[in-house]
Amino acid sequence: MCRLRNSRLVHASFCVVTECQVKGIVTSRSSVVVLKRRPRGPVQPEDFSVEAAPVLDPAEGEVLVAARYITVDPYVRAMLDDPSFFGSPVPLGGVPPGDMVAEVIGSRAAEFPEGALVVGRLGWRSHAIAGCAALRLAGMHGVPVPTELSLLSSSGLTAWFGVTEVLRPRPGETVVVSGAAGGVGNIAAQLARISGARVVGIAGGPRKSAFLESTIGLTGAIDYKAVTDIGAEIDRLCPDGIDAYFDNVGGPLTDAILTRIAVGARVVLCGEISQYDVLGSEYRPRLGPIADQRATMTGLLVSDFVHRYDEARKRLAGLARSGTLKPTEDIVEGFTMLPTAFVGMMRGDNVGKRLVKV
Ligand code: NAP
Repeated sequence: MCRLRNSRLVHASFCVVTECQVKGIVTSRSSVVVLKRRPRGPVQPEDFSVEAAPVLDPAEGEVLVAARYITVDPYVRAMLDDPSFFGSPVPLGGVPPGDMVAEVIGSRAAEFPEGALVVGRLGWRSHAIAGCAALRLAGMHGVPVPTELSLLSSSGLTAWFGVTEVLRPRPGETVVVSGAAGGVGNIAAQLARISGARVVGIAGGPRKSAFLESTIGLTGAIDYKAVTDIGAEIDRLCPDGIDAYFDNVGGPLTDAILTRIAVGARVVLCGEISQYDVLGSEYRPRLGPIADQRATMTGLLVSDFVHRYDEARKRLAGLARSGTLKPTEDIVEGFTMLPTAFVGMMRGDNVGKRLVKV
């Protein structure tokens, strides 16, 4: 947690600059996306609007940056509700959070000179003022610029700590990953595969099944939108039960998986995206199989590992540079497409981590 200049608290590993006290000028080149109304049920692009915003002068120790790529992330959906089950709600008229790769275009901080590319959680804005503590330099790990946001930011780090610290898959074990073609899921599935496990990925649609089997080399894929009996498909691909489950989705799919876990299974609860857009959902997993199978179920919050991010970035980047792990980004072009790109991600349009190229 970090306290901001405007006293809002955010649950994040970076300080978010949401307001600036420095006076600036309004130009048509600087834009923000703001929350116009709170969604009731499925989020719509019309819940947001794109507005002009002041371009501000950095104070001592700060930089002015211009966004190049911005992430759209499922946790933002929770923050559109008030009360929000994750972090402080985005206020009406407020800018949703998102990670950004940006170019420094004005600097009063020696460590981030003009022209440097930086990464920070600076929100859905074309330009931002940021203090040094909110930023890291991009380009330190020899990966392409978009991969700074897919592999070396929240998605890849979540997958890394969920798999290496919680699931700890062993060669020959059966691992199931839900939301397997998404930003977190595809990295988690590849890390489990790299550890020698048999990995079955669950995702929606034939394009995602082909990606899971052909592009990232999983043992099997289940298109949960196409099958009539998901349990029968899991039984077919996991005949000896499931030793480890990386859950991005929650809901009835997770219940179907939990009834098939093996003795001593490990389950990581990473996310419940199937429930974020459901009005008033209080769905929770059915825990009977955890006791029956003497399994462990662990909640994951990536920011608990903030002190180990650098170590994880080195390991992840090394796997990517060697070609052992293939990061995948799903890039939508244009700043004004942020709301549409976000809604599309919530509905399953993306293969890999969804980013908006500004
Ligand atoms: P993502 O997986 O790239 O995108 C979201 C995906 O969720 C969609 O592509 C869609 O894929 C799937 N989905 C949407 N509605 C669904 C439903 N009703 N049932 C099943 N799948 C559904 O997003 P991400 O950024 O990588 O995040 C994935 C999960 O990780 C989220 O639950 C997020 O909250 C969680 N997360 C947790 C942490 C942490 O610290 N614990 C950090 C980051 C992210 P399909 O086409 O396959 O449906």
